Amino acid sequence: MEQPSAFDKVRKRIGAFRMKGASREQIRARQNQRLQDHLEFVVRESRFYKHLYADVERPITDLRSLPPVTKSQLMEHFDSVVTDTAVEYADVEAFTSETATIGQRFLGRYPVWLTSGTTGEPGAFLQDEWSLLATDSVGDRWSAPAFIDGEMIKRLVTHNARTAEIAVGGGHFAAASGVELFRRENQFLRDRMRLVSPDRPLSEIVQELDEFQPAILVGYSTVLMELEREQRVGRLNLTPAFIVPSGEPITETQKDRLRRTFDCIVREVYGATEFYSIGVECDHGNLHANTDWIVLEPVDADYQPVEFGEPSETVLLTNLANRIQPIVRYDLGDSITMYEERCPCGSAFPVIEVEGRQGDILHFETVSGEQIPIFPLPLTSVVEEVPGVHRSQLVKTAPETVSVRLEIEDDADEAAVWDRVNSALVAFFDTHEVRDLTVELAAEPPARDPTSGKYRHVWSDV
Ligand SMILES: [Zn+2]
Repeated sequence: MEQPSAFDKVRKRIGAFRMKGASREQIRARQNQRLQDHLEFVVRESRFYKHLYADVERPITDLRSLPPVTKSQLMEHFDSVVTDTAVEYADVEAFTSETATIGQRFLGRYPVWLTSGTTGEPGAFLQDEWSLLATDSVGDRWSAPAFIDGEMIKRLVTHNARTAEIAVGGGHFAAASGVELFRRENQFLRDRMRLVSPDRPLSEIVQELDEFQPAILVGYSTVLMELEREQRVGRLNLTPAFIVPSGEPITETQKDRLRRTFDCIVREVYGATEFYSIGVECDHGNLHANTDWIVLEPVDADYQPVEFGEPSETVLLTNLANRIQPIVRYDLGDSITMYEERCPCGSAFPVIEVEGRQGDILHFETVSGEQIPIFPLPLTSVVEEVPGVHRSQLVKTAPETVSVRLEIEDDADEAAVWDRVNSALVAFFDTHEVRDLTVELAAEPPARDPTSGKYRHVWSDV
């Protein structure tokens, strides 16, 4: 496949910016045209998809006639999914098992990123130039206008455009590997980008950031909130222009706190290794799905579409840019809500909310013997709304046991806080008619997932 020329790169960027003002019909038309081109390519060049769609009527006019795919399917059939015969999984595995290759391109051509495996199974995803270009331009079109503000430009210049990304280092994960790739390939960014790994004591992170003084701070929402507290009590002194929470869910309240404490622009990005800029926050505080370069289908557990305004069980992602490792109707696992209403910013790109990334949905038996799902977001809120709770994690350790890892505020009384958490949880489960349940305090404090480095709020060990 042809690489984008310098001209293509400028053209795509301008095109992405101009789409912001497009009507809903224009966006849909652009999406449709790219989808048709993409599907034509995919059934021609990917043996896996050709086989998977063998019984689907041609020409393919409705995306929904195609069977969804999962990460384990794409990994199992890796060699026949990819569209470059020089790419083999065994070599990708060897490449990503070394740390010396972080930030290098596989076969000198394709950045390859591993997914963290918070859902239990790791994945490897190759990017091509078109995909990198698409994710970049759709990200920039939402955030670049914010820099028209004089004060923000001043900060950007004062801090020499330095960017700190908070993400786990030492592996081929998208953030860490991406930072390293930019540093290797771009002279300007070499000393201006830095990866700050969160798996160290907070005091060390604070010290490093204080010395580095980033203009742009990107990273896990939970770490940003820790830094917000450090800044508020005076142990950290940053004046960034821009903060980008990513990789973990963040609430409106938390974003407001970041804005107030750091007195800067805050723009959330919702992305995945499979497409890095799925949704980007506009200047009205809404996440817009970039549906000119992706198709995003909120669906229920049977992969049937859910209504606008309803939270989905999972979401199917089609990446219209990446041709080396095509992703078509891919089960991303996140619960999102897509809205039909237009954003007050005027853009017709759909507004989405992401809810499901707090963790797993837990299943429990009610008094009448029915299995019911408990969603992670409300469960987490029950605990975190108790005064004195700094952060928490909930783990289902047995069919009828929930273990709570608790970290309390410095000035709170542990026994009293636990009493309130315990009663709040029992009352919450009671309203769901789940009563044969043991809620216990875990011996260990909340911790990041050792493999992915992400902070999960709720999961099941059963
Ligand atoms: Zn908007």
